[in-house]
Amino acid sequence: MSRQMILVTTLEELKAGLALLEHPLGFVPTMGYLHDGHVSLARRAREECKAVAVSIFVNPTQFGPNEDLAKYPRDLERDLRLLEEADVDLVWTPTPEDMYPQGYQTWVDVAEVSLPLEGAQRPGHFRGVTTVVTKLFNAVQPTRAYFGQKDAQQAAVIRRMTRDLNFPVEILVCPIVREPDGLAMSSRNVYLSPEQRRAAPVLHRSLLAAQAAYQNGERGAEKLRQTMKSILDAEPLAQVQYVSCADSETLQELDHVTGKTLLSMAVFFGKTRLIDNVLLS
Ligand code: AMP
Repeated sequence: MSRQMILVTTLEELKAGLALLEHPLGFVPTMGYLHDGHVSLARRAREECKAVAVSIFVNPTQFGPNEDLAKYPRDLERDLRLLEEADVDLVWTPTPEDMYPQGYQTWVDVAEVSLPLEGAQRPGHFRGVTTVVTKLFNAVQPTRAYFGQKDAQQAAVIRRMTRDLNFPVEILVCPIVREPDGLAMSSRNVYLSPEQRRAAPVLHRSLLAAQAAYQNGERGAEKLRQTMKSILDAEPLAQVQYVSCADSETLQELDHVTGKTLLSMAVFFGKTRLIDNVLLS
């Protein structure tokens, strides 16, 4: 580590901290409770940029009323240690009051790509995401921003928003980091019971089976969805919310796979909702 990591909370502190950083500036927005997936984004930013800023903010506006905002896992001390090890220059931990002060009333809505899949199951989720990412981009003014393919629709929505609103930020989407047994790393994996944790790699297994079918020539989207569904249905602890075979940019469901395609799913294990995906190209 070359220098002391700067830790800021208020917008004024952020401004003063950013003034000390060189450009190009890489930015990684997170909700904290960091794992190797988050760290991979910070390391990629470290490789490609002169300075790296990370935000940690559990954004209340992207949680639905029955979701896990209050119990979302947090461990700031550990997060800061991991970011220091990744040679991050600045960490911004705004409070909800900093981000949404009394009288707040402005929202950013990406119309179409926000609607299916996660958007259909979590109404208002992407409006919260795009609004907070807009605020983070405006405050940090990064050269490049790094997102994970783990949240594939989020990446597509943010790419669309960045183009549509002329944000002068380059969006980079990085590969999914997985546990050795294939489970995609997620802050929410800590909610899984030992039994559920043992069963959870079924998401990745079902994706690999559909990917193999595709590689063996299958182009029927419904066939690929059925391949994933039948493997997930064979796991008694898994409750499928959706499986999808969609255009990777628009997220519209396909009949036949021709161009860039996203296989994705949301699956409940008890109250814990896991998502995963693979890209076919
Ligand atoms: P979150 O803290 O869940 O909002 O995630 C912050 C960023 O990390 C998002 O861009 C996620 O897509 C990304 N991310 C989360 N999990 C992973 C993972 N397993 N591999 C790669 N990126 C991830």
